[in-house]
Order: sequence, then C-alpha cells, then structure tokens
Amino acid sequence: MSKVNQHPLASHPAIQNFRKYLQIKSVQPNPDYGACVDFITGQAKELGLPIKVHEFVKGKPIVVISWEGTNPNLPSILLNGHMDVVPVVESKWKYDPFAAEIDEKGNIYARGAQDMKSVSIQYLEAIRYLKQNGVKLRRTIHISFVPDEEIFSADGMALFVKTKEFKELNIGFGLDECGPSSNKDYVAINSERLTWTLEIVCTGNAGHGLMLIPNTAAEKVQYLLNKFLKYREEQSKKMKHPLYDLGNVTTVNLTKIQGGIQSNVIPSKITMIFDCRVTPSDAPTFDSQVKQWCEEAGGDSVTYKYLCRKDPIVPTTKTDDSNPFWKAFESVFKKRNDNLVVITCPGATDARFLREVGIPALGISPMPETPFLLHDHNEFVNAKTFLDGIELYKEIISAIANVE
Ligand code: ZN
Repeated sequence: MSKVNQHPLASHPAIQNFRKYLQIKSVQPNPDYGACVDFITGQAKELGLPIKVHEFVKGKPIVVISWEGTNPNLPSILLNGHMDVVPVVESKWKYDPFAAEIDEKGNIYARGAQDMKSVSIQYLEAIRYLKQNGVKLRRTIHISFVPDEEIFSADGMALFVKTKEFKELNIGFGLDECGPSSNKDYVAINSERLTWTLEIVCTGNAGHGLMLIPNTAAEKVQYLLNKFLKYREEQSKKMKHPLYDLGNVTTVNLTKIQGGIQSNVIPSKITMIFDCRVTPSDAPTFDSQVKQWCEEAGGDSVTYKYLCRKDPIVPTTKTDDSNPFWKAFESVFKKRNDNLVVITCPGATDARFLREVGIPALGISPMPETPFLLHDHNEFVNAKTFLDGIELYKEIISAIANVE
C-alpha cells in the first residue's frame, strides 16, 4: 500500500481532475448529486463555458455545459454521461472504492472508473485542450451529466428527452458509453437489445397431491419451459465471440418461478418470470412467438404480460454512408489505424432514449486492453489508457462537430 499514488502520472492535471470526480460518492441508492453539480460547475467555470442545471425532479439534477459552434444554427452534438455509479461490496475491494488510488502500475481503482466517470472527464479534458488551443468547431457541443442511469433512467435521460429544454438543444447526434475490450480493438455500440421482462401465469386443475389429475398448471409450465430452453439452446449455438456476439442473440432466462400452497396440494396457479433481452432483428416476431407458445401450452388458462417498461423498438443508428456523423466518427479510427468493432449492446445505455426520439447515437468508452469490470469488484482503468482516451476524443469531437 505504500506505493499508492506514487506513480508519475498521479500528478497529471487530467488524472487529478478524474480522481476528484471518482471520489464523489454518487453511488446508488443515495447518490450525492449535489457534490457532482458543485464539481461540474467548477469545471464549467475553469473552461469558461456556460452551464445549466435542470431539476425536473427534485434531487435529480441534469447538468449541461455548452460550447457554442461557429454555426450554432446547425443541429448540435451531445456528449452524454451518467453521474451515478452502482453500489460496492467494500470488503471485496483492494482499495477504498471511493479513494481512486493509483497503484504502481498506474491503475486507478474506483467505482465509476470504467462506468462511466472516465468518459465524462475525457469529454471535458478534450474540450479544455481544443478550446485552449484556439480550435473553433462548426457545431455547438453540449456535454450532459445525467442522474439515475443505473436505476433505469426514469428521472434521468428518459425524462430529459421529453422536455422542451432538451428539444431546444437541437441535438443532431449523440455519444454515450460502451465498455472496454480485452484486445487492441475499440468497441462502439450502434443499437441495443431490448429488455422485455415476461411474466407467464399458468393455471390448471387443483386437488390432492396423491391423484393423477389432468390439465394441471405444471404440465403447461413443462411445455413452456421446453420451448424457452430449446430456444435458449439454439441462441447459444449462434454465439462465437463471448462479448461481441451477445448483442446479436436473444437471451431468455427463467429468473423466478412461484406457485403452490402446500406440498400435498396440486397448485391451481404457477407463475414464471423470464428475463428476455431481445435483439432488434428478433423484436418484431418475438412477441407473436411467445403468444403462440402460450396458446399451445393451454389456451385461455395461460396468460402473459410484460413487467416494468417494455423497451420500444427503436431505429438502429446507421453505420453506412447515409450517416455523415458515422463517416466522421469512423474516419478518426481509420486515420489512426485503429480497429473499430461495432456491436449491438447486450445491455442498455441512455443512448436508447436518444434513438427513441430519432437522434442517431453511438456508444464508446475507449479502454482497449482492459478487463471488463463494469459493476464488478476492483473496477479500474489505467492512467495511460485514460489519457490516450482524451487524445482520441480530441479527434472524435473535432470530426463530428465539424460535419457540414
Ligand atoms: Zn454506465
């Protein structure tokens, strides 16, 4: 522990800034958003840029720093990041998860080091550099800091995109988060799987547990489980790369099963919950498949519904010549000779709410050769990887904000 914070990069101003943001306990379920707003306000002051703090829901601030372009009438660029982080199991961490210690290898350990305080600071540091060097970009850039992404964004991005304050920003293209890659590739997201939480209720004849009663709930459960597990098996056969392909298959997992009142009574009702993550290409037919299986299993005695929010089917952000922002984004990686892999996100990010209101958006968190530790113990990013990411954002931001 004696070598902590002795690494040469520990004194780098961008690293110091990053560590300060990591040290704010914006951890669910009681994130300190007040401290985040104070920190971001300080950043805006240093950058000499205007800042707006919206509070559509009390205690859930949405913060936007803006850098006006030379042609502010053009649709603007949104650089989005969520302020909150997921909880920690402190005993499993090598270092205090909110101290942001740097070890002798230059690894910065903190909750949010990957997801996604790194990205928000990289946006700010890239803009600091561009602005200090007299660079002028064509389109206005808005850097947003939103709450509650880790608890499904209801008071965060999901709400923000519906406000007049958001519409006034006139966003034409957005960037948000992704995750690291184990090799030298950069991974970007242009679409996401849809979260559909399915509840199926099977009903049937009840009675004494010693009988052979026909038409029981359990037989319907058996029929459906066979269908869902067969489907699951077929999907897993399509997987070639454990991370890149997960977004290209639909996963169905039985996560809850409930029923029965006593061990010698045949239950009249059994409820199953499936966590379904549906690919954009499977989404149009998935529901009719479920409907058919339920009908086959037991007609009117089997019903189903979706719990929570059933993600709507949203347009995939185009990665072809029809999207000038994609062309600008891709050109940066080509110029640097970096390999860019575009995937469908297996999970969900706030970018889906932008796509939902018709704004093309890509997700990227530039962390090559980094283990995937989002939501895991001992989350870290290497200081050099973090600084390289700032270099990348200087180029990406310049390219996308200069699209004609
Ligand atoms: Zn995140």
